[in-house]
Amino acid sequence: MTLPATGDDRAAQLRAGLDAVESRIARACADAGRDRADVQLVVVTKFFPADDVCLLAAQGVTHIGENRDQEARDKVGSLVAAVRDGLTVHFIGQLQTNKVASVASYADVVHSVDRPRLVGALDRAAGSAGRTLGALIQVDLDGDDGAGRGGVPPAGAAELADAVAACENLNLRGVMAVAPLGAEPAPVFARLREVAAGIRSQHPQASWISAGMSGDLEAALAHGATHLRVGSAILGSRPPVG
Ligand SMILES: *Cc1c(COP(=O)(O)O)cnc(C)c1O
Repeated sequence: MTLPATGDDRAAQLRAGLDAVESRIARACADAGRDRADVQLVVVTKFFPADDVCLLAAQGVTHIGENRDQEARDKVGSLVAAVRDGLTVHFIGQLQTNKVASVASYADVVHSVDRPRLVGALDRAAGSAGRTLGALIQVDLDGDDGAGRGGVPPAGAAELADAVAACENLNLRGVMAVAPLGAEPAPVFARLREVAAGIRSQHPQASWISAGMSGDLEAALAHGATHLRVGSAILGSRPPVG
């Protein structure tokens, strides 16, 4: 792994990463005949320190993603209000029911709603925190190999979306998926777009498609992604997940 540099060096590294990803997004949007303004970049800051979040914010980043509750809570909690208030915090990791109260306290959007029990728990936790959370249905497009990255099977997505839409403290925003490792991403993103359209026919406000990471953002943009979750292409490689 590359150790994060400090100060000006790190700011320059992050600037270079952002620029490189912005060029990829611009090119992919042009290829797909899409407007860059319809795409939101969520910079995934997991494993990287709050200092990096501040440097990114100073460079105009307004959306960050985190996937581990304790790390995210500490990091977001350590930000000064001037930085925190300018950010939308996306929780993109698998979510256990016993973590919902914590996540509801700092996340603005949860991308990983994938089972009915989580819907009720998240709604109650948001209500107790006096907050309203955006929520995306995470769809499992991995087939049946049990890779364990979470997600509801496509056939169950509509029902789960109905449940979220009925919640007082959750706003149904759309769908999210992680393309299976090693698989061709395009068919996966094409399928996600179909699932998204099905949900949108019942819930017109659910227009977000969260798809595409460092390795496959072009394929995701070609298939309608509205939110890209990009980490390593901007921040550098992370230590291996333990
Ligand atoms: C870590 C992570 C990302 C970012 O992955 P990169 O390959 O570093 O861009 C996106 N989505 C989820 C759900 C993640 O956990």
